[in-house]
Amino acid sequence: MSLFLSLLVSISMAQEIRLRLLHHQKSIPVLAENIQLSEGTAQALTITYSEPQKKWLVLNQKNNGLSTEAAKTLELKAENAIIHGRKLSGKFKLVWNEKNKSIDLIYPMDIDKYLLGVLPAEMPASWPLEALKAQAVASRSYVLAQMQGQTHRHFDVDSSVMDQVFNKKKFEVLPANLKEKIRAAILQTQKEVLFKGNRVYKTYFHARCGGHTENPKLVWNDSWSWNGKKDPYCDLGNAQNWAYSISIDSLAQAYADDTNENIGTITKIVAGKKTNSGRSDHIFLFFEDGRIRKWSSQNLRKSIGFSNIKSTLFNIVLNKETVSFRGKGFGHGVGLCQFGSRQMASLGKKHSEILEFYYPDAQLRSVFQWPAFLAKLQEKTLQVK
Ligand SMILES: [Zn+2]
Repeated sequence: MSLFLSLLVSISMAQEIRLRLLHHQKSIPVLAENIQLSEGTAQALTITYSEPQKKWLVLNQKNNGLSTEAAKTLELKAENAIIHGRKLSGKFKLVWNEKNKSIDLIYPMDIDKYLLGVLPAEMPASWPLEALKAQAVASRSYVLAQMQGQTHRHFDVDSSVMDQVFNKKKFEVLPANLKEKIRAAILQTQKEVLFKGNRVYKTYFHARCGGHTENPKLVWNDSWSWNGKKDPYCDLGNAQNWAYSISIDSLAQAYADDTNENIGTITKIVAGKKTNSGRSDHIFLFFEDGRIRKWSSQNLRKSIGFSNIKSTLFNIVLNKETVSFRGKGFGHGVGLCQFGSRQMASLGKKHSEILEFYYPDAQLRSVFQWPAFLAKLQEKTLQVK
């Protein structure tokens, strides 16, 4: 890499977040009028990484191969490029992910541009402006908290539900008035971030808490811990109820898949401890051979499917050959409840009041030294009180 390019990258990275747009790729096709690589320029490329040779293989349309020794990362720059079917402009990084033996596509982005693709993907643009503003602050703080906490990743946030969804198309297809509303939600909260002391607050959020939010420690054994609280705003009666039935055999299989322990037939299921918010912490499975196993409800939800078991706020009913889960709410229940914040905004509450309600021990502050602040987060030199 030339000195000029490395200087350019280090300066700009300090003002941008590193978004992982794609992962687990074996090769990445790039199409643009002018793709700039350190070796020169090209128009259409397919980029792969050769593990035995420890180098990137860059094939152009005529199959004339360029190759570069550039260790684990390959940088390129292109305007109006089509990368793996997505229209993108700017600088990109392809990173060889040793663990997964595949390529990750990293896109450095200005944080507010990133939020344009996050906000309409995470909350309907038709919802009240103050709810969208609360979501904008939560999403902005979330990415900064990830930046602050991650030391082992080559990106700050993934573009999927693994972190928060980024989907530029969701913004592009909106009618003009809703585009304006999304822009307003971001601009009117532009420098606002939630903190606890000097640390950026880990602003988890979810669709609907079902009447009581949850402590993050109880969901992920997270280093962040705060008590959940009663939420009178999202309770819309039956609308939040859900039910899911599964055969007992499938449940036993899901347990076996999750734990690699295949015990056989389940004869009884008993609800275990509940958390303060009323969520199921675990359940007990009784097997035919007399063995009893405790199964974490978080793992159960993951194994059976997050959209089938919509929350851990459930009760279990065992029938002859099936087991029924009846629950309330949707999502992990930690932090901001989106349906509740919609209701608060409809009742005339400001975004700051919504944030204060769902993150009671956080402080909303404006960050004015933005590039310096991002650089500190990336270098992990932000002083922690
Ligand atoms: Zn709620």
